Amino acid sequence: MSIDIGPLQKILQLEGEKGYLDSAVIGGLDKFLRRWSAQVMPSITSPQLLRQFHQLHLLDPKYASLTREQRKEWVAKVFAFLPELEQVGAGKAEAVPEKGAVPSPPAVGKQSVVKGRRVAGGSIDLSITALKGVSTALAAKFKRLGVETIRDLLYFFPHRHLDYSQRKYISQLSEGEEQTVIANVWQAQVTMLGGRRGTEAIVGDETGNVRVVWFNNPYIAKKLSTNARVVLSGRVGLFGGRYVFESPEWELLEDKELVHTGRLVPLYPLTQGLHPRQVRKLMKQVVDQWAWQVEDFLPAELRQRCNLLELPQAIAQAHYPESEAAKDRARVGLAFDELFLLQLGVLARKRDWQESQPGNSFNIRTGVLDTFSSSLPFKLTAAQHRVLAEILADLEKPRPMSRLLQGEVGSGKTVVATAALLVGAASGYQGAFMAPTEILAEQHFANVGQLLSGAGRQVSEEDNLRSYSGLLSSPLTVALLIGGISQARKQEIQRLITGGGIDIVIGTHALIQKEVEFQRLGLAVVDEQHRFGVTQRSVLRQKGFNPHVLVMTATPIPRTLALTLYGDLDLSVIDQLPPGRQAVKTKWLKPSQRDSAYDFIRRQASSGRQAFIICPLIEESEAIEAKAAVVEYERLSGEVFPDLRLGLIHGRMSVAEKDGVMHRFRSGELDILVSTPVVEVGIDVPNATVMLVESADRFGLSQLHQFRGRVGRGQEQSYCMLLAENPSEIGRERLDLIEKIRDGFQLAEEDLRLRGPGEFFGTRQSGLPDLRMAKLSDVALLELARDEAIRLFDEDPALEKPEHRLLAKELARVWQKGGEWS
Ligand code: ADP
Ligand code: MG
Repeated sequence: MSIDIGPLQKILQLEGEKGYLDSAVIGGLDKFLRRWSAQVMPSITSPQLLRQFHQLHLLDPKYASLTREQRKEWVAKVFAFLPELEQVGAGKAEAVPEKGAVPSPPAVGKQSVVKGRRVAGGSIDLSITALKGVSTALAAKFKRLGVETIRDLLYFFPHRHLDYSQRKYISQLSEGEEQTVIANVWQAQVTMLGGRRGTEAIVGDETGNVRVVWFNNPYIAKKLSTNARVVLSGRVGLFGGRYVFESPEWELLEDKELVHTGRLVPLYPLTQGLHPRQVRKLMKQVVDQWAWQVEDFLPAELRQRCNLLELPQAIAQAHYPESEAAKDRARVGLAFDELFLLQLGVLARKRDWQESQPGNSFNIRTGVLDTFSSSLPFKLTAAQHRVLAEILADLEKPRPMSRLLQGEVGSGKTVVATAALLVGAASGYQGAFMAPTEILAEQHFANVGQLLSGAGRQVSEEDNLRSYSGLLSSPLTVALLIGGISQARKQEIQRLITGGGIDIVIGTHALIQKEVEFQRLGLAVVDEQHRFGVTQRSVLRQKGFNPHVLVMTATPIPRTLALTLYGDLDLSVIDQLPPGRQAVKTKWLKPSQRDSAYDFIRRQASSGRQAFIICPLIEESEAIEAKAAVVEYERLSGEVFPDLRLGLIHGRMSVAEKDGVMHRFRSGELDILVSTPVVEVGIDVPNATVMLVESADRFGLSQLHQFRGRVGRGQEQSYCMLLAENPSEIGRERLDLIEKIRDGFQLAEEDLRLRGPGEFFGTRQSGLPDLRMAKLSDVALLELARDEAIRLFDEDPALEKPEHRLLAKELARVWQKGGEWS
C-alpha cells in the first residue's frame, strides 16, 4: 500500500501561492489535514516516521493559529517530510545488506503463518481443554492469566517479540547482537558449567564452527543428536578469543515452521508453571488451526476503506509476524477494532440515555442573553461565543445535553456557564452549579454574582442568597449552599429550592448527591471535576430529573483521552484566552538561586503582592508529606520571612481548617501561602503574582502548568519559579518545556508523550476499558475509529442490517464482558 502524498502537496503549494492565508481549501487547512492524516496514519509503521508525524502536528494541526511567517516555515517542513512518507508507504524493502566476503544467508526456512485454512472442528468459545495437549492442570494455569477459552487464547497477545530474524553464517557472527544461525550438530554433551550441570555443544555450518553452552540445562544434550540440523538464536559472547553462543533459543530444523528461533519470536506473559517454549508451541498450534475461525465482524467495506488487515490475519500476525511491518500492521488493525467497539458502545449508551429519557427543551430567549453579554465589562472571545452557541444548540433540543467544556485556566468558562444558567432560568428551569470544594463554590458564588450584577439590579443581599431584578420577569435568585452555614439557614434554602423560589444554586457535588430536592432542575454545571463520571450522571437521572449536563474542566486533556474517557460526551473547547493576558514569566532556578528567589518574593510582598510556595513532593505518604510541610513552613516563617504573614495548608488538615487559611489568603491577610502539592490550590487570587515550586523536576508538565495557572490572573506581571535540586534527564526536559511553552494543551500532549497515558491521571481511571492493543497515543487511529463509528451509527443505529449482524454480536459480547465499563 502506498501513501498518496499528491493531494496534500498540491494543496500546500497552492497555499504558498496564495500567500499562506489559509485559503487553499474550503473549511481551512487544519480540517483537511486532520482527515488526511487520519487516513494515511494507519499505513505508517515506522516509529521514526510516526514521531516526525507527531512532531509536525499533522494529526492535531494548528495552522490556523500560526502567524504567516510560522505557516511558511511549517509548510516548508511538511514539504520536506512528505517524500519520506511516500517511500515508506510504498513498502520499500528494508533488508540490510551484509558486508564482507560471504554473501548473506537466505532467510530462515518457512515463516509464512498463512498456510491455508486448516480449520479445526468446534467453536472457539470452547474451553482450552478441548485443545490437544491441554490438561486441566495446564488450563488452571492459563486461567490465572485470564485465559479460559480458545478465543481468549487467540487474544492472549505477546507483550513483545524478540527479533531473531537476522540470519548469519557462523563466520559472520559478531559479539553482543541477537542473531540466528542454522548449523549441524557435531557433538553435544552434558558438562559442568559454573559448578552445575549444563549442556555444551559444537555446531558448524559451511563457514565454520562455534561452541554453544546452556547453563543449568543438561536435558538439551539428549535432544541434539549428532548431525541433527539445529537453529540457534541469541547472543554471542567472547571467551578466550573465541565466540560462544550463550544459552540461545534453539530448535531442530524440521519440516515445520520455526517457533522459537530464526524469526520474530513472541514473548508471552507467564505465570508460575508456564514455560516460554511450552506457551509458544501451544500458541503456534492454536493460531494456525483456530485463527481462521474467528469471524471478522467488521463490515468488509469498512475494513477495506480503512485498509485494515482481515481479523484472522491480524491475529495470526500479532502472534507470529512475518516481519516488523506485518506486526505493526496487525497491531494497528486490532487496535482499531478495540477503539471502534469502544466508540460504538459509548455512542449507543449515549443514545440510550438521550432517547429513553427525554430532556427539557429550553426556550432560548436571546433578549436576556443580549442584555447579559452587553452588560459585561468585557467582550466575549470568539471561542467563548462559539462554545456558548454549541451549548445553546444543545439546550434547545428535547434531549439532555451531555457536554464537556474544556478550557485553560483563565479562559473564561464561568461566564459561559453563567450565560447557560441564565437561559435556563429564563425558560423557567432551575440550575445547579457545582464545584469540588466549598471554597471554590464560594468563589463561584461571588463571581456569578459579579457577572449578573452588571445586567440586573441587585435587590437583596444576604449572606448566601442574592436576587437580581431587571433580567427576568421576576427577580433572579442565586443561592450558595455549603457546609459552613447554619443548619436553620440551610433548611430554609432547601425549602426555597424545593418550592422553586431559587433559580440558581451553587455548591459542592453534595448538591446532587444528598439532601437537595429541586422543583425543576434543568441544567447541572459541574466545574473542575474531570471525574464526574457516568455514576454521578446516573445519580442525577435517578432523582427523576434529566437535566442538561455541562462538565467543565481546566485539565487540558488531549483529545485522544477526552474521546476515550468521555466518549459519551460532546466536546467543546475554549482554545483562546481573553486578550491582554500577560504571560507568566517562568524560570527554572538552580538550588543556589533559592535565596534570590526568596528576596524576590519579599520585594513583591512589600509592594502588596502575594505568593504561593509549593513544598517538595514526598511520595511515601500524605502524613509524612504533611509533617515535612510543617517543618518547611516553620523554617520559612521563622528564619526566611519572619517579617511576613505566612499560612500553611496540607492534606492532613480538615476541610474547615483549609478553607479558613484559603480565605485569609484570598482576603489579603496572608502574604505567602505555603502548601503541599497534594492540596489542589484551585483558587483565584488575582493579587498573587509569584508561584514558587520546590522539587519542580518531579512534577508532570500538566501539574506544573496548573500550579503556574494560579498566578497571572490579575493585571500585574506574574512569575513562576521552579526549583530543582538534581533533575534527571527527563526532569530537565520537562523544565525546559514548561519554560518555553505556555499552551496547556500542547503541554498536556508533551506530558502524555513523556509519561505515557497510564500515569497521566496518576491512577488508572476506572471505567476505562482494558485496551490491549490500542495505545492512548493512537490519536489518528482513535479519530478514525470514532468517525467510522459515527458513520455506521448514523446509517444503522440498531445494527440490524445483515452485514452488521456479526458486529452487533461482537459488540454485545465485548460490552458485556467489560462489565465495569458498560
Ligand atoms: P476559568 O474558569 O476558565 O479558569 P474564569 O471564568 O474564572 O476562567 O475567568 C477568568 C477571568 O477572566 C475572570 O476574572 C473573568 O471575569 C475574566 N474573563 C472571562 N472572559 C473574559 C473575556 N472575554 N475578556 C476579558 N476577561 C474575561
Ligand atoms: Mg474556573
